Amino acid sequence: MSGTILITGSNRGIGLEMCRQFAADGWHVLACCRDLHKAADLRALREEHPNVRLFQLDVTDYGQMAALHKALKHEPIDILLNNAGYYGPKGVSFGKVDRDEWRRVLEANTIAPYMMAETFCDNVAASERRLIAVMSSKVGSIADNSSGGGYIYRSSKTAVNQIVKSLSIDLCDRGISVIALHPGWVKTAMGGPNALISAEESVAGLKKVMLDTRAENSGHFINYDGSEIPW
Ligand code: NDP
Repeated sequence: MSGTILITGSNRGIGLEMCRQFAADGWHVLACCRDLHKAADLRALREEHPNVRLFQLDVTDYGQMAALHKALKHEPIDILLNNAGYYGPKGVSFGKVDRDEWRRVLEANTIAPYMMAETFCDNVAASERRLIAVMSSKVGSIADNSSGGGYIYRSSKTAVNQIVKSLSIDLCDRGISVIALHPGWVKTAMGGPNALISAEESVAGLKKVMLDTRAENSGHFINYDGSEIPW
């Protein structure tokens, strides 16, 4: 079964590959990115697949988010994928935290996915599949933290995990499932060249996880290979 997927941060990395794979499967792809002029690969994908539509969206610009909601009116969205993410400064250890950067990372990784869910939940509720997925990260798992540090990025993903859990409870009555995803350590600008897997492999796994999600898996934190990650 195909449907409609909205993907944020879709101009490069995991988001772009997600657009490619869903478009190839015949899905309607609402590909959002914050600067369409810099999205050459995405524009090329649209040339190949008329079922890909492009939208300008900086996920931290809530005026733009409201305008997109208006543009999509009551269009059903089967999967709302909050993929956009910002790492912030690298190597943030104790005593070296930039508070302004921390706020920026929290805005993009934590508050924006919540705002996307609040803004588009009616569109998701009107769809067949009714799934909201949030690209989290294993480094947001408290159980997995054995090395310390990473205060900014880690805390933004831990906080969004808590949001996923609350949304899964609050939106359950509307038949909406909400999951947190870990894509693996992926070779993208964020993951770097030493990462373990390609975006193709990660996305193939994540796609299966999302398509297999049912109400019973809502409120869970799931790896790209389908295994569960402890909070
Ligand atoms: P990239 O850095 O390659 O891509 C990040 C994407 O997010 C870009 O499209 C970027 O747009 C977009 N983005 C950032 N801030 C905003 C914003 N305010 N509004 C709209 N778009 C924005 O990262 P990945 O593809 O690797 O990461 C995708 C997701 O996966 C992220 O949430 C990341 O945290 C998560 N993740 C990645 C891992 C990895 O190993 N790669 C591991 C664990 C989690 P622009 O080009 O305009 O900057």
